[in-house]
Amino acid sequence: MFAIVVHGGAGVCSGVHVEPALRGVREAARVGHGVLAEGGHALDAAVAAVMVLEDDPAFNAGTGSVLNLDGEVEMDAGVMLSEGLRTGNVAALRRVKNPVAVARAVMEQTDHVLLAGEGAGRFARAFGFTDHDPIIAERRAGWQRARAAMERRGDAYLPRLHDLLARHPELPAGTVGAVALDGQGRIAAATSTGGVTLKLPGRIGDTPLPGAGNYATPNAGVSATGKGELMMRFLTAKAVCDGARAGDIQTAVDAVLAAMAEQIGRDVGIIALDKRGRVGVGHLTPAMPHAWCVGTGEPVVRLSVP
Ligand code: ASP
Repeated sequence: MFAIVVHGGAGVCSGVHVEPALRGVREAARVGHGVLAEGGHALDAAVAAVMVLEDDPAFNAGTGSVLNLDGEVEMDAGVMLSEGLRTGNVAALRRVKNPVAVARAVMEQTDHVLLAGEGAGRFARAFGFTDHDPIIAERRAGWQRARAAMERRGDAYLPRLHDLLARHPELPAGTVGAVALDGQGRIAAATSTGGVTLKLPGRIGDTPLPGAGNYATPNAGVSATGKGELMMRFLTAKAVCDGARAGDIQTAVDAVLAAMAEQIGRDVGIIALDKRGRVGVGHLTPAMPHAWCVGTGEPVVRLSVP
């Protein structure tokens, strides 16, 4: 058995954004599935799928990442492998094309778990990741509009993400993630994001924190999306993996979403995959484009779960 599930971020996705988002997740699932179908490694499949989405400017990861309060892009990414609970992560990383590949290098080339900021950037250059400007014109224009709206409302410096998102619901989402199970029973999870638009410089989200936004065990793998400050407090990805040990993966996803809604908030979406190739998906946001492909079956692509 082999399988892959991918997401393109929990949030609002409507109008002209729907088609590119669905096309993107379908393509990512197709590429990751291709790796698995040829007998490839779960980590290769998950990273390949996430790189498709990082390179697709429709998504808030890699090229197309959202800008922070200063108009800079600081990206977070993480990978994790069920075997040995190995993981590598980067946070507040600037000017690389594929942060997920740098996170993988942290896992494979060092015995650290997380590199951040300038040190992460130096590590990336040392391992051959060349300079790349991930800012696209559309994001720059959106940032200028949002900044102007903030100035008009006297919100020039909003230290509370909650206030920012409540007052500016138009801000884009679109973190990306993938979980893959290969024919050898290995599970890998990979997640990558530009974070939250207009975040304070230096803010790090859930994506590069194992157990919060990304996790993989021999039983299950998870990638989460939404307001990272919720997942960091709930340890969402780990909670789903723990739930999957005791029972059905979809039940585990539903239980975590229900508990989060009750205790801390609803800005969250989850994809999960267990060791038998069963998929669990759920989100409390209006939309979360996602796709999965199990065994030799055709890809299933969805914007939302009813
Ligand atoms: N979880 C990401 C973060 O908080 C954002 C997202 O998934 O939209 O950085």
